[in-house]
Amino acid sequence: MSRYWSQLVKRLDPYTPGEQPQDQQYIKLNTNESPYAPAPAVIETLANFDFDGLRRYPDPQSGALVAALAAYHGLQAEQIFVGNGSDEVLAHAFQAFFKQQNPILFPDISYSFYPVYCGLYDIEYRRPALQQDFTIDIRDYAVPNGGIIMPNPNAPTGIALSLAAIRELLADNQESVVIIDEAYVDFGSASALELIPEFDNLLVVRTYSKSRNLAGLRLGYALGQADLVEGLQRIKNSFNSYPIDSLAAAAGTAALADETYFQDCIERVVSNRERLESALEDLGFEVFPSMSNFVFVRHADAESLYRELKRGGILVRYFDSPRIDSCLRITVGDDAECDALLAALGKILG
Ligand code: PMP
Repeated sequence: MSRYWSQLVKRLDPYTPGEQPQDQQYIKLNTNESPYAPAPAVIETLANFDFDGLRRYPDPQSGALVAALAAYHGLQAEQIFVGNGSDEVLAHAFQAFFKQQNPILFPDISYSFYPVYCGLYDIEYRRPALQQDFTIDIRDYAVPNGGIIMPNPNAPTGIALSLAAIRELLADNQESVVIIDEAYVDFGSASALELIPEFDNLLVVRTYSKSRNLAGLRLGYALGQADLVEGLQRIKNSFNSYPIDSLAAAAGTAALADETYFQDCIERVVSNRERLESALEDLGFEVFPSMSNFVFVRHADAESLYRELKRGGILVRYFDSPRIDSCLRITVGDDAECDALLAALGKILG
């Protein structure tokens, strides 16, 4: 605490990301990164990058990247907003759309950055409780609100909402912006993208950090009707003209070109997820049905399992939070990492 801090800084309760040890001694299954390398086209683009160009500022509109994303998703460039990781895109969206008369809504068990943005931007929120089985009942959201945000599939539960449920959520809430955070959508759940032409209150947020194997690049984007995207541009252009550096823009564009590699990595994650789910069930865990690149499991000894695994060189995520303090969130690793995890758990649990 410093006497120079503003009242706002004194009040903040910042987000704590999963541990990110800087040595290589851990099998890292705690932050939902991909176990696979970025696409070969990304590596080639960076290797052949014209580094002299780094003297110049990047394109403030990231035009080439936006055009590539628009073509990839079958939308217009005016419907795409890019940012420095989807966290930045989400932060701008909170500031652009959520400071309203009524509190915003998001599930009580959800991405723990949402309440942090509310603190930063002084936005009131309410958190309808997930059902006992950790599913979302969208009827809980049919109340006056200043906006709605939820990940689909949800994090950290991994459980997905159907497209029909999302459509109903949008139809029930035409007075406020509904943000669907699709960080994990590529691992099997339905995307809300096709609802964009129908609903001017829908913003879909995506990231390169999970299914595109590029968490270190810091690239995320939002898709929605042009008026919403313009709102995000107004915030961005009042904050940082150049959030996407030239290297990230080039690599992010190249990543979209290799659909076969992209699908292949996803298939491998999904197949290892299914293997983990049944093996963890055999070990006595309650396993929630995941549509993500992680599994969410319950075990009476969750906290001590987290510690024992860490001692053995395997990092998973434990949340010391109400309702989930007997759960672990485990990122799906590659074959060897899944083997190591299951062997370690088998040993600990006897
Ligand atoms: N949304 C959800 C639900 C997440 O789990 C994450 C990853 N922590 C993010 C957004 C942010 O991802 P990034 O900033 O790496 O794009």
